[in-house]
Amino acid sequence: MGGRIGFPGWEKKYYEEAKKLEVYTYSAESGEMIRGILAGESPKQVIKIYKKIGPCKCGANNPKLLETECMGDYDISITCMRCGRSLLRSMYDFDVKKPGGWVDLCIRDWNNGIDQKEIEAAKDADWERKRIKEEHFSWKPVHPNNMASNPLEGYYALLFKKQHDGKIYGCKWTIVFQLEEKDAMYIPYDAKVEAYILFMKRYFDLEDTFDYPEPETKDSPDDYYAGGPYDGVNDYGDFVRSYRTLEEAKLGAIGRCGWQGLHADTVIKNERKN
Ligand SMILES: [Zn+2]
Repeated sequence: MGGRIGFPGWEKKYYEEAKKLEVYTYSAESGEMIRGILAGESPKQVIKIYKKIGPCKCGANNPKLLETECMGDYDISITCMRCGRSLLRSMYDFDVKKPGGWVDLCIRDWNNGIDQKEIEAAKDADWERKRIKEEHFSWKPVHPNNMASNPLEGYYALLFKKQHDGKIYGCKWTIVFQLEEKDAMYIPYDAKVEAYILFMKRYFDLEDTFDYPEPETKDSPDDYYAGGPYDGVNDYGDFVRSYRTLEEAKLGAIGRCGWQGLHADTVIKNERKN
């Protein structure tokens, strides 16, 4: 901060005034709490930002503005020193669109008398809206060699989303039936399914979405084609987890989509092209 003396907004008078405000910034890395500072803002700007904060709805003035930085992630809180009312907004808040926007958002909500539990409820509602649900999945049958005359061995579903560079990211979920074994390698033809094994395969930088052909019903081995443009339908990818029921396995796939950046706003509807 001292190094910027001489720049507009960094004059000594602003610096001294900002130092007296209930404004603090805490860095997890240095473990230091510094008064009168907000990351990337001049002391003049810090004063301007603090002046936008109205009194608490309990009537108390001068709430505490605290910025916390941890490994490049920022959040900001406003806390009333009398009644303890506190609001926290982070750079990951759902309606933050511009850099530093979480500060404006926190101040706006504070001045509107909003409480943290209302913010949390709104966030939960937004996550719920964006969450991938059963209707985003279209489970299709998997047969060995993609031949319909072979027994059904599980289901697969493909989901896609646009990458930042315009290419497409794909994710294939496959649930494979594990049949009861009578003896090592011996599975009677009427064997029951004892487990549903979930697998996942990822596809990066695709030019387009893809799907596999419908399972073939013709008898000649020359007539079937089990492959898609990128691999075969029987290429499941990595083991994820085993489940007791098909429903649990499907929910396991659905629940993991968020980790793959797949949500209702980004997922591409995949139409069968062949
Ligand atoms: Zn208060």
